[in-house]
Amino acid sequence: MAQLNNIMEIFKLLDKSNCRKCDEPTCLAFAAAVFKGEKQLAECPSLESEIIERYGGKTASKMTLEEETEQAMEQLKGKITTIDLSAAAERLGAKFSDEKLTIKCLGKDFSVDAKGNITTDLHVHSWITIPVLNYIMNGAGVSVSGKWVPFRELEGGKTWYRLFGQRCEKPLKKVADTYTDLFEDMIHLFKGRQVENHYSSDISLVLHPLPKIPILICYWKPEAEDGLESNLNIFFDSTAEKNLNIESIYTLATGLVLMFEKLALSHS
Ligand code: SF4
Repeated sequence: MAQLNNIMEIFKLLDKSNCRKCDEPTCLAFAAAVFKGEKQLAECPSLESEIIERYGGKTASKMTLEEETEQAMEQLKGKITTIDLSAAAERLGAKFSDEKLTIKCLGKDFSVDAKGNITTDLHVHSWITIPVLNYIMNGAGVSVSGKWVPFRELEGGKTWYRLFGQRCEKPLKKVADTYTDLFEDMIHLFKGRQVENHYSSDISLVLHPLPKIPILICYWKPEAEDGLESNLNIFFDSTAEKNLNIESIYTLATGLVLMFEKLALSHS
C-alpha cells in the first residue's frame, strides 16, 4: 500500500469541490482529518475505489501541520547549503556580499548565508521563508512580462484556484470592505504602489512579495445605488511559475492575506 506523507499529498487526491459530503467544511479540512487519522479516505464519495485501495489512508506520521511546516523549512535550509549563492544571486538579480545572498521581500531585506542562516527585517514565518528559499533555489530569474493573469490561468493554478478564492481573495475582500482606508495604508507599508486602475477597479495596487513575483490587487467598492456588491481579485504576472512553484505562490499569497487580516484586527 502506497504511503501519504503529508496533508497536501492527500489534498491533491481530492476533487476540491468542498461539497461537504464527508461532513468536513472543505476538502483541505478532510485531508487534515485523514492525515491525523480522524477520517478514512473512503469517507469521501468522490474518490475512486482504485485510489482508496492504493492508499487506504496510510500516512507516514502523525505530525501536526506546524511540525510538518517546520520540517519542510529545515529541509529547505539544508538544501540551501548545497547551492552556489553567488550564482543564484546573479540569476535572480539579487545582491551577494559578505557571503550572503540578499533579496527584497515586500521592500525589506531578506538574507541567507551558505549555512542556511536567515536574517531579515521581516518577521520570520514559514509562509514567507518557504517560498523565499524555494525562489532562491529554483527560480529561473525570468523577467516579468507585464501581463497580468488570474490565479486559475497559471499552469498549476487550475487545481488550486477554488482554494485560492476561499483562502486569499475572499478574506482579503473582507479586509478591504471593512477597513478600506487602512487597506490602502497597509499596501503602502509594504512598499506597494498604486497603479493605473485595471479592469475599471476602484483601487489597483501592486505589491512585490518577491522581486520577480509581483501581485496586482484590484478592488471594486460596493455600489449601493446599483445594488452591486464589492469584489476583489488578485492577479499574477504570466511568468510567475517560471520563478516560483505553484505551491509556494499559493503559500506566499495566503500568508500575505493572513498578515493583512492580523494587521487590520490589531488596528481596529
Ligand atoms: S466529500 Fe470529498 S470532495 Fe466533498 S468536501 Fe469532502 S473531501 Fe472534498
